[in-house]
Amino acid sequence: MADKKIILTGDRPTGKLHIGHYVGSLKRRVELQNSGLYDKTFVFIADAQALTDNIDNPEKVRQNVIEVALDYLACGLDPAKSTIFIQSQIPELCELSFYYMDLVTVSRLQRNPTVKTEIQMRNFETSIPVGFFTYPISQAADITAFKATTVPAGEDQEPMIEQAREIVRRFNHIYGETLVEPEILLPTNAVCLRLPGTDGKAKMSKSLGNCIYLSDPADVVEKKIKSMYTDPTHIKVSDPGKLEGNTVFTYLDAFSRPEHFERYLPDYPNLDELKAHYTRGGLGDMKVKKFLAAIMQEELTPIRERRKEFEKDIPAVYEMLRKGCEAARETASATLDEVRKAMKINYFDDAELIAEQAKRFAQE
Ligand code: ATP
Ligand code: MG
Repeated sequence: MADKKIILTGDRPTGKLHIGHYVGSLKRRVELQNSGLYDKTFVFIADAQALTDNIDNPEKVRQNVIEVALDYLACGLDPAKSTIFIQSQIPELCELSFYYMDLVTVSRLQRNPTVKTEIQMRNFETSIPVGFFTYPISQAADITAFKATTVPAGEDQEPMIEQAREIVRRFNHIYGETLVEPEILLPTNAVCLRLPGTDGKAKMSKSLGNCIYLSDPADVVEKKIKSMYTDPTHIKVSDPGKLEGNTVFTYLDAFSRPEHFERYLPDYPNLDELKAHYTRGGLGDMKVKKFLAAIMQEELTPIRERRKEFEKDIPAVYEMLRKGCEAARETASATLDEVRKAMKINYFDDAELIAEQAKRFAQE
């Protein structure tokens, strides 16, 4: 069992998925799913987690569950190979979180850098919902319930995986070897660790409104790229341009491949030459943006088209999710049985305990 390789990842249904999700995790998941190297792949829609900071907006979360499911299918997640499920439908996860809460201190949670930034971003200040504050614990439950070994995710998830590993170690130390320590699988391309938004802000994020969505129509993608943040001091074409913080070049680092140059920009042999020309001066933003737009359309068109197909049969998508939830529940429930046993709270299925106590009381 310990040498099984199991993937688990998820997304919050707070919006449609964007190209940051795609390069940070989604694309990798599809490759791993198809690689045949893993025994199981679990992918879930974290609706309960999304509610921790959207408690007054349940309709938003509800509507986005199907959007995320459609994005999954459009990108090539295949329910025949991956178990796709909705977090709230697996009550075993809540029970696990409840036990794990005793293995983590408040100060440990307060030190989590991602939670810190997210609290600032949401202007919670002193009114942080307890559920939001403790979501790293609930994430540990999501991961360990499926005995996941591998979590393909962006850089912002590193502190969450570390927290999950600590919980596993503490649990196994106290209660005996039960849970599996997960490992994060980060994108190999450094710019994909945390793709910036079209506004140049540090992270493309549904909550910041700086996204190119996988389902954006072609003309919207075009428009978003045309108004993207570049180098504000690069005014005339002849001006030398800066590459640091220049989002258009960051996206080219993430998406361009040598064959794109042959196809759409044959004047340049590769990205290094394009960058060199931009830095020297004499290369306009528009030309670079047009190139990026061509690449993005090539990547996004098949996804958009597949999504359109799946959109035609929404009940079938829900049926796929229902089956996924059933299968996921079976696995989570088996883990929970082991956890209860390890924690000595499995009273009714421990005949030995009952017999031994009966004997003891009879002797007294
Ligand atoms: P929210 O703002 O609601 O938190 P989000 O856009 O941050 O939404 P999540 O659902 O929190 O998206 O993240 C899902 C997965 O996508 C995680 O693995 C995360 O690391 C990855 N991810 C999200 N945004 C980016 C990004 N800009 N670059 C790389 N990976 C990302
Ligand atoms: Mg997030």
